[in-house]
Amino acid sequence: MIIADQKPLDEVLGYLKDYKNIAIAACGTCVTICLAGGLAEAENLAEALRIARGASGRPASVRVFSLKRQCDAEFIEEADLELRWADAILSTACGVGVQFMAERFQVVLPGLNTTFFGASRDAGLWTEMCQGCGNCVLERTGGICPVTRCSKSNFNGPCGGSSKGKCEIDSETDCGWQLIYEKLKSLGKLERLYEIQEIKDWRSARDGGPRKRVAPLSCADELAVEQNAVDWT
Ligand code: SF4
Ligand code: SF4
Repeated sequence: MIIADQKPLDEVLGYLKDYKNIAIAACGTCVTICLAGGLAEAENLAEALRIARGASGRPASVRVFSLKRQCDAEFIEEADLELRWADAILSTACGVGVQFMAERFQVVLPGLNTTFFGASRDAGLWTEMCQGCGNCVLERTGGICPVTRCSKSNFNGPCGGSSKGKCEIDSETDCGWQLIYEKLKSLGKLERLYEIQEIKDWRSARDGGPRKRVAPLSCADELAVEQNAVDWT
């Protein structure tokens, strides 16, 4: 899922200072699970904004709206009329949601800093697992991502800087290549480490510009196409 952090209150207050009717749009998926931008966090933020604006002598009307997802037009449409009450929308979705909302409404501002794709490892702990490189190599590396979990995104083994299984960037961070080594060893496939990986083609990653995915035809659509292609005469 996408992980995000709340922006500092002072930063948000700064760019909301000229608006009186403020809608906080919470998002009900990833950012709810990572406790950054769900309904509970949005309500806390609304209260903090009301108090701060009142104390500054420039009170604002702040309402909270909860959208199931802000990365899907269907759910934005459901809240459209209510959100048009606001002269500014503070979205507590990830950056995708903020941008998608901004295509529809005039003033949409970010309430979060979107950080990474991660997994929930423990209560209140999420760690980065994938960078969406567009050409997954997990089958070669025992299911451990060298792009993300090696700090240098090395593809051909460790850099030589690890110590006691930890990355040289910090003693709390596991060395991704140590993890890959241990996993391949447990699988009896250490010989894979001798296979030199060619230079990765990063055009499938963000380096090739904004990406898009067109869904393949569903089975039903494929069937319809096949039937249309049949000459029934
Ligand atoms: S290899 Fe690429 S797609 Fe696969 S987990 Fe790593 S970053 Fe994600
Ligand atoms: S110490 Fe390990 S994780 Fe850190 S950069 Fe080197 S190989 Fe990558």
